[in-house]
Amino acid sequence: MSFEELGLQAELLRAIRAQGYTQPTPIQAKAIPVILNGRDVLAGAQTGTGKTAAFTLPLLQLLEGRSGGRQPRALVLTPTRELAAQVGESVATYGAHLNQRSAVIFGGVGINPQIERLRRGVDILVATPGRLLDHAGQKTVDLSRVEILVLDEADRMLDMGFIHDIRRVLKLLPQKRQNLLFSATYSDQIRQLANGLLHQPEMIEVARRNTTAENVSQLVHLVDKGDKRRLLSHLIRAGDWHQVLIFTRTKHGANRLAEQLSRDGILSAAIHGNKSQSARTRALQEFKSNKLTALVATDIAARGLDIDNLPHVVNFELPNVAEDYVHRIGRTGRAGSSGAALSLVSDEERKLLKDIHRLLKREIPVEIVEGFEPSPSGAPSVPASVEAPRRPRRPRNRRRGGRGNQAKAG
Ligand code: AMP
Repeated sequence: MSFEELGLQAELLRAIRAQGYTQPTPIQAKAIPVILNGRDVLAGAQTGTGKTAAFTLPLLQLLEGRSGGRQPRALVLTPTRELAAQVGESVATYGAHLNQRSAVIFGGVGINPQIERLRRGVDILVATPGRLLDHAGQKTVDLSRVEILVLDEADRMLDMGFIHDIRRVLKLLPQKRQNLLFSATYSDQIRQLANGLLHQPEMIEVARRNTTAENVSQLVHLVDKGDKRRLLSHLIRAGDWHQVLIFTRTKHGANRLAEQLSRDGILSAAIHGNKSQSARTRALQEFKSNKLTALVATDIAARGLDIDNLPHVVNFELPNVAEDYVHRIGRTGRAGSSGAALSLVSDEERKLLKDIHRLLKREIPVEIVEGFEPSPSGAPSVPASVEAPRRPRRPRNRRRGGRGNQAKAG
């Protein structure tokens, strides 16, 4: 399935190509044609599935064919400012070659610039419910021309107690409109909301991503940052690994690691957004056909990758966002085959590891590899069952700021 086959127009395809996406994610493949057809949609999809593009792309296309005034014709409601900002960015990115005007409004920041922005005219408005109602109350926004409504992360909006706000917003919209409801979970409350809101919706569901497959074994190796590359080469060689997908956080880091591994005699290539499509395709083909042992990728570059029976995934660095961990390791253990996901975690990344544990609702076993013991700088929260170098306990009432030279980061 390609983006072209989904019926998207050239300007959008161009923006998609610029993002380096090679193929639609499952939610995109399912939702885009349905939305383009004007249908209401109830979509079960979590962050990381590509859901934002799944509604943003068709939204842009639908509006492009219609003429508009100054009032918003599409309204996207999100639970948080962060999500609103993110969706706003996606609208700008995917709509780069179209003429839609978009704005993002949320609380906690000055209202006047938003009023000014709204006055200039907006086609696509992304907003959190509270601030949107403030504007509606002050008559600085007119929602009577909204043709398409999107509720993004509807379950979170309900969790955050926005149901009344949502209902108040709904009253300000025209009766006839297209409604898209995205939610990671289906509670009774969501069903209720959907029933009252959606008109003969198409139900679209993609696999939950925050649960990791049981056939994937997960392990953390605590190691000093500076020793990671050496440890990785050691593991690949000692384990006689033939196919390992390695994640780094940056494009630069991916390049450097692929070069270093190659110098260690492990055939490697990097794929990321700065590589040409042909270079990426070639690297992937060589990796799939076992000509390369290691493929080093950034999260974005790895999104569209589908590799059968991939046995090893390594997080050379933990992702900043815990959900990305799940996506990364979801590359292995597909279709019932077994896989191993290994994370090399340095002292600086302990908070990220904690976030992942919270998301998974369990702890990943930790092991320290002989010869690669982390230096005793901080005290990692290693489960008791794991052998780690013992460290002196910290005094309980350590005075804040007592360690004079602990500079504040950033
Ligand atoms: P979302 O689920 O909307 O939060 O998207 C998660 C991430 O996937 C974002 O960083 C997008 O840029 C990226 N993404 C969305 N669609 C695709 C695609 N078709 N191929 C690769 N990456 C994508």
